[in-house]
Amino acid sequence: MNQTILECKNICFSYHNLNGETKALTNISFQVNKGEFLAIVGPSGCGKSTLLSIIARLLEPESGEIIFHEQENLKIGYMLQQDHLLEWRTIWKNVLLGPEITKTLTKQKEDLALKLLSDYGLIKFKDKKPSELSGGMKQRAALIRTMVMEPGLLLLDEPFSALDYQTRLMVSADIGNIIRASGITAILITHDLSEAISLSDRILVLTKRPATIKNNIPVHLSLSDNSPLAARNAPEFNDLFTLLWKEISDEYCGENC
Ligand code: ADP
Ligand code: MG
Repeated sequence: MNQTILECKNICFSYHNLNGETKALTNISFQVNKGEFLAIVGPSGCGKSTLLSIIARLLEPESGEIIFHEQENLKIGYMLQQDHLLEWRTIWKNVLLGPEITKTLTKQKEDLALKLLSDYGLIKFKDKKPSELSGGMKQRAALIRTMVMEPGLLLLDEPFSALDYQTRLMVSADIGNIIRASGITAILITHDLSEAISLSDRILVLTKRPATIKNNIPVHLSLSDNSPLAARNAPEFNDLFTLLWKEISDEYCGENC
């Protein structure tokens, strides 16, 4: 049975500064089930990162509620566009940064870090500095650094957008597979519609700012091999892409479009 892990109820948020108020989110309500991979797409500047920051509890909603059903102190992992690896530390030291800062570094954490580095092909690069790795490897190292904290919910804010197209295809498939294999619940923000279809179980479409939920589209692809790259060849892929493209492009048009 589907178990709800996170519930967003009527979330509203505005930024206030000297130029006045910028309304970013209006009445956002949705649920995320345990183990689900949810993608969120919407026009640029509509409020996607704001929503993720509210879920991560970095911002307080103006009104509405975020409810974590599974446990009060659900650990949240947050992965951003930039890898934010520290150049003066080796990959090993970068990967262990979280446990070090939170004073939870144990032999068991080190063993987990070693296993993740080994599973994801970075063990040979453990003693290298970030600048010695390719963009895709750095993003993988950033994911391992997040996974070492054993989060119950993973938030990904356009994590592949700094990569060139081919690397992006490979790395997003790679990271999608890692997340699937771990069974972790994930919310991915992306402006790449193909990426949303190939990685997620469900896609939320947001309107232009202030964002509301425009559509909630389940992704069911009939493929025996459910790897993200193979997903792009699924018979349903093109119809889903066309639907999403229409939903988003309507938001960019004026009322008479
Ligand atoms: P997205 O991630 O969808 O591109 P954001 O959530 O980053 O959008 O931003 C939503 C809107 O809020 C944008 O119009 C942006 O300019 C505005 N905004 C973001 N951060 C701030 C801030 N700190 N102060 C004022 N306005 C902001
Ligand atoms: Mg953003």
